[in-house]
Amino acid sequence: MSKESSIHVLDQDTINKIAAGEVVERPASVVKELVDNAIDAGAKNIRVELKDSGKTLISVRDDGKGMSREDVILSPTKHATSKLSTITDLESISTMGFRGEALAAISSVSKFEIITKRKEDSTGTRLYLEDGKQEITDVGAPDGTTVSVHTLFYNTPARLKYMKSDATELSHIAGMVSDLILANPAISFTLTNNGKTILSGASSNLFNSIVDILGHEAARVMMEIPSDHMESQFGENKKEAIDQIKSLTDYADIEISGYISKPTFSKTTTDNLYFIVNNRPVTSKELIKAIRLGYYTKLPKDRYPAAVIHLKINPTEVDVNVHPRKVEVRFKDENRLVRIVSDVIETTLRLYELAPKVTAAE
Ligand code: ADP
Ligand code: MG
Repeated sequence: MSKESSIHVLDQDTINKIAAGEVVERPASVVKELVDNAIDAGAKNIRVELKDSGKTLISVRDDGKGMSREDVILSPTKHATSKLSTITDLESISTMGFRGEALAAISSVSKFEIITKRKEDSTGTRLYLEDGKQEITDVGAPDGTTVSVHTLFYNTPARLKYMKSDATELSHIAGMVSDLILANPAISFTLTNNGKTILSGASSNLFNSIVDILGHEAARVMMEIPSDHMESQFGENKKEAIDQIKSLTDYADIEISGYISKPTFSKTTTDNLYFIVNNRPVTSKELIKAIRLGYYTKLPKDRYPAAVIHLKINPTEVDVNVHPRKVEVRFKDENRLVRIVSDVIETTLRLYELAPKVTAAE
């Protein structure tokens, strides 16, 4: 390099490590990306095993479709994805991932291993990556994929130092997995740390997932947002409220389902509010506002109910590409959404006042 030039293009390894910082902030972000991949692979059972809250090991095992030898070799390459081909695909994306960044980022800041096998293959493949060096071997393996992330941030001292106590990192992971359990009630999940079970959600229905995650106290006071299949539960005379919800959501081309708590249950925090948009757990100030509006004066000021709400919205009406970690979504027409969700909440509360004996638990 001559004295005249002070600008140079960074080498790929440095570029990857910088980019990794955006995707991989802490062990919980690794868990999120790996579980998202397992969900995208069609897994029915997902096991997350941690050592030392993920600092020493994060291992995610799934029984999804697995990868061919060619694909597993390509998978940790930046911008390598099977989920998106052109920018127009992004408008209607239905998978959790699409950027092809996660495995590239994670593998650049850890000692990284994938063992995978497709049903149609007789042997599996093991890929091991450390300091950019790749080993590939044939191995016997069950159908599906296990990704193991050893010694996260071992080669990025700044990140390593930034990690919090084991208890704090574990609570972030447990929060993340809780969101995913509520978003995917049909998938069975377990989370262990140093051999101890932290969370488990058996493959079942949303109500049972609520019992697993929010506990019995909250579950007992949950009311299901009415839908067609519940008409019999309320009888003919409550049909009006159900029809009202149906016409609201049909008109808006939105599906709203889930559970909200009776006004007798409330907390000072929004911790018991869970929103899932097109199967993706999200946070949303707009949706919190919609909930508050729906309860209106039924709750004391500055208190929040428990709610687990699944929204199905035309993918062109939501932008999931706001943030690399995909936790925030942006709605094209926020005001309309707030109005519809708050109307549905209000109607649900009214319906259960009309039929006070019916609760979700029955
Ligand atoms: P993205 O999920 O955005 O496509 P990733 O870096 O997370 O990017 O993964 C890259 C590719 O590796 C995926 O598109 C997928 O084809 C494959 N892959 C990753 N994890 C799994 C898994 N658990 N099962 C099957 N395929 C996987
Ligand atoms: Mg992914």
